[in-house]
Formats: sequence, C-alpha cells, structure tokens
Amino acid sequence: MSTTQIRILAIDDNKGVLDDYVKVLVSKPQPEDMSGMEDALFGEKLTEDVSARLNCIVDTAMQGDEGLEKIRQAKLTEPYDVVFVDMRMPPGWDGLQTMKEIWRIVPDQFVVLCTAYSDHSFDDIVRELGMKSNFLILHKPFAPDEVQQIVQSVVARTSNQVRTDRKLASQLERAIVNEELSLAFQPILNLATGEIWAFEALCRWERDGKPVSRPDEFIRVAEDSGLICDLGNWVLREAMACSKELESATNETIRISVNVSPLQLKPGFDDALAYMLIVNGIQASSIGLEITESRILETGSESETVIANLRDLGFHILLDDFGSGYSNLLGLASKVFETLKVDRLFCAGLHSSSCTIPIVKSVIDVAIGLGKNCIVEGVETKHQEDTLRRLGCNLVQGYLYSPPIALDEAIEWFRNRNKSQSRFAA
Ligand code: C2E
Ligand code: MG
Ligand code: MG
Repeated sequence: MSTTQIRILAIDDNKGVLDDYVKVLVSKPQPEDMSGMEDALFGEKLTEDVSARLNCIVDTAMQGDEGLEKIRQAKLTEPYDVVFVDMRMPPGWDGLQTMKEIWRIVPDQFVVLCTAYSDHSFDDIVRELGMKSNFLILHKPFAPDEVQQIVQSVVARTSNQVRTDRKLASQLERAIVNEELSLAFQPILNLATGEIWAFEALCRWERDGKPVSRPDEFIRVAEDSGLICDLGNWVLREAMACSKELESATNETIRISVNVSPLQLKPGFDDALAYMLIVNGIQASSIGLEITESRILETGSESETVIANLRDLGFHILLDDFGSGYSNLLGLASKVFETLKVDRLFCAGLHSSSCTIPIVKSVIDVAIGLGKNCIVEGVETKHQEDTLRRLGCNLVQGYLYSPPIALDEAIEWFRNRNKSQSRFAA
C-alpha cells in the first residue's frame, strides 16, 4: 500500500503552539475523524485505508521571516502542500503580510490563516487579500481534529495533476538556473523561392540527451507557476546570442523568431528587451516575437501598449496559432502584427476536409490583402504544399522541410539552402 506524503509548514511565534501542530499532525488520524469526508482523494473515496496512508512531515518556523526562507528553500526541492500561518506576529509583521509574501514566492500555495476570534473578520481579510480559492481561516484555539481535517481536505482537492505540476515547476526553476534548457531552430521558408525567411526558436528541456518534458507541457507549467518570465528572459537572451552567432557564421542577417507568452508582456518588458539588444549588439529587426492569440485577450490593454512599444523599437511582431483562439478580423487588422501564423490544425485538415480549404483561403486572402505575411505551420506533405501555393500562401514551416534542429545544424542548413531551393524552382 503506497503512502501519500504531505509536507506541512507551521509558522507562529509561540513554540508551544508549533509543538502542538507536530503532535496533532504526526499522530495518525482516527477513523471516526473521517466521517463526512466524501472528497475524492486521487480518484478514490476517502476511506479509513486512505487516511492511514497519509504521512505528514511537519516543519515549523518561528515568525514570518524564517517561514518565508523555508518556503523559498522548499520550492527548489519539495514544495509544501499546506502552510499554517498565525495571524498574530510581533508588531510590524503580521499574518496577512506573511501570506502576501508567501504568494509572491509560490502563487498557488495553499495557506491556512490561524486567527483568534478577536482578530480580523473573514470579510476584513478577504477585503485585504481578495477572494482566493487557496486559503482557509482556522479559528484559534483549534481542535486537533479540525487541523487534521483541513490537511485531509487539502490533499483531497490537490489532484495528482496539481502535485505533478508543482513538482515539475520546482524542477523547471532549477533547470532555468542550471542552464538545462536549450533552443532548437526550425526554418520558415518563402514558398515561392525556397529561401529561408526566418528560424523559429523553440525551447527544449533535456537531461542526458533525453527530453524531461514536452514544450507545450513545461510552458503551461511555467505560465501557471509564474516562472514564465524567467524562462522567457532566458530564451530571449539565448536567441539574441544565437542570432549573433548565426550572423557571424553566414555573413547574413537571418531573423530568429521567439515565442513570447502574453504573461511576459508586462510594463517594463519593452525596456528590458531594448537593453538586451544593446548588450548583444544586434538590431531589433533581426528578432521576431511570436505572441499566441489564445491568451492575449486575457492580458488586456496593458499588454497591447507593450506590444506597440516593441513594434516601435523595431521588433517584428507575429500573431501565433491564428485560428486556435478568439482573435477575429479586427485583431488581424491590428497594425502591430506584421505576420500571421495559421495554426497547424488548419494545415492538417487541408487534405482530409474540403471545408478547411475555403477557411484557409479566406485567412490567407485577408492577411495578404492587409499587406501582412502569412505563414502556414505544420506543412508535412507535398500535397499540402501544393494546395497552399495555389491558395496564395507566401511562407511555410513544417516537417516537410525540417524538424527543429540545433544551431550548428541550422547554420549548415542555411549554407546548403540552394539544394533545398532547387525543389521549389522545379
Ligand atoms: P508553436 O510556437 O506553434 O510552435 C510550433 C510547434 O509545431 C513546435 O512544437 C514545432 O516543433 C511543431 N511543428 C513544426 N512543424 C510541424 C509539423 O510539420 N507537424 C507537426 N505536427 N508539428 C510541427 P514544439 O516545439 O513542441 O512547441 C510547442 C509549443 O510550445 C509552441 O508552439 C509554443 O507555443 C510553445 N513554446 C515552445 N518554445 C517556447 C518558448 O520559448 N516560449 C514560449 N512562451 N512558448 C514556447
Ligand atoms: Mg510559435
Ligand atoms: Mg504556432
């Protein structure tokens, strides 16, 4: 029978209370405490068997500072499942402040605020911290079974997926610092001439030559855990350094197109990129920024201003995965986007469904009519290529030409481009 290990941190300024947490949680819960606990635990009902499998590891910290340091440390290895925080701390430092700091370090940390009846009301606290789904209030003095039940219900709500994601996020944080990430480059080609128009830089996470996680998975985890800005900055710095290397190896400027999460588009991002250009000694026009349409509406007008500033700095702005989200013709007409990338699902449908062809054709017509470039992603067959040429598409990307490859292979690919061009001329 496998045991579920729960990591708990209790923060207080009273040694006696901290000892109580350890006493209460390390002793096994009694079966009668489980009555009414109907939540599913890893897809099972919470039965006596399951409760007996909970193994609580309780860590304690005297006051906020020590607690925050422990949370920072644990984040790099095994993050805590629950943190209990006392509302009353010494003057100048209270529980609410500790909670705010905790969420700055681990945005989805589950926190239980322990408060005496005379302290702030629930409404006060919600007014101060906002309504969150990851916090509970426990009134003091607490009964042992209340604490146990909280832990069990937190475990029950924390699905396998959340636990896996949390673990992946803590590994990813180390991977960014330890430079375990790398970039692969996939050519984007001019369909008429076969010339390379740009390389798309795609992030890879490998250990001992094997992928640790797929990009769509670890990028989602990075977005959910708040790591996306650190990851994105690493990608941008690396892409700029590679752009410089590509230029000196080929004596030509070939644009590198980088994926940018809308969550990175905060005020100051434009200035940071302008600074990176200076440090790397490259022109903004040699970098493309691919912004996925599906989350752009969520981030609002602040990000639109940042995109407009980036465009003014000279970066080439692309709207990625067009058709997969909510963007409409107004979005398409937006002046800031110079290039539109049609989601690869549309290309996959080009030979199997006749109704996909008119849709792809109208997207290409609108983009070209507005004076924009149109890249169709995911071209895998000659038949798709022929159809796209007929529909007036000007740029293509896909396994038919090359999978994403390492920088030295990309340089080689560029040098041999005439060979690949000959098949376009035919
Ligand atoms: P994307 O930006 O739309 O990138 C294109 C994806 O399609 C890449 O998947 C590429 O390997 C794949 N692809 C290219 N040609 C073909 C083809 O012919 N057929 C098929 N089936 N697939 C093809 P990859 O590298 O797994 O990346 C997945 C997604 O992860 C990317 O989609 C992008 O949204 C995200 N991503 C990758 N790197 C980064 C990054 O550095 N930052 C951010 N924010 N997102 C990234
Ligand atoms: Mg992309
Ligand atoms: Mg795409």
